Amino acid sequence: MAHATRPSFLPAGRNCKSFAIVGIMSNYSLPDLPYDYAALEPAITGEILELHHAKHHAAYVKGANDTLDRLAEARDKEQFGGLVGLEKTFAFNLSGHVLHSIFWENLSPDGGDRPDGELSAAIDEHFGSFEAFQKQLSSATSLVQGSGWGVLAWEPLGKRLVVEQVYDHHGNVGMNTTPLLVFDAWEHAYYLQYRNVRPDYVQKLWSLVNWTDVKSRFDKARAA
Ligand code: MN
Repeated sequence: MAHATRPSFLPAGRNCKSFAIVGIMSNYSLPDLPYDYAALEPAITGEILELHHAKHHAAYVKGANDTLDRLAEARDKEQFGGLVGLEKTFAFNLSGHVLHSIFWENLSPDGGDRPDGELSAAIDEHFGSFEAFQKQLSSATSLVQGSGWGVLAWEPLGKRLVVEQVYDHHGNVGMNTTPLLVFDAWEHAYYLQYRNVRPDYVQKLWSLVNWTDVKSRFDKARAA
């Protein structure tokens, strides 16, 4: 099985600079593993790895694509009654796809040991030591209540490494997405003025959007 040249969890075409028409539907696809199913034995058996990749991961890919279709249908018909469920379903499947795609590439039959260079230095700086980081990530993974993931992540605002615990794989947000335009729907953002009529406040927000900023974030995210 060959390594894909582009990050395989991206929708086909999304990393292509000539892909100018953003609105075109592009589908997610199941990436090949960068090794054989039996390659991670004895730590992970071939049977588990095949089921995990060919059944579970494949189901997330199908679920993400199916939900994109249902969202398109909802927009066409302007029927948003089921939107809350569709958003949750999309985040669940997209995040499952993204995280498994990262997971496969994070593992290798030749893996182990510890990082060196700038990653090693950043781990020391942000966690104190490799051992302290290792204990935190192990604990975060072991102590997830129910299903989930332990994650080492880069937090760009504070420019630091953090360990996160992800429940299931989504809090309605697809892992790996970059916020471009955000509307605050907490009551503190509107209640003194709009009381309980949140839709009026949301409608007014559209008159304030700084599209130059949104576009700049879009350009940076696409270039990353
Ligand atoms: Mn899994």
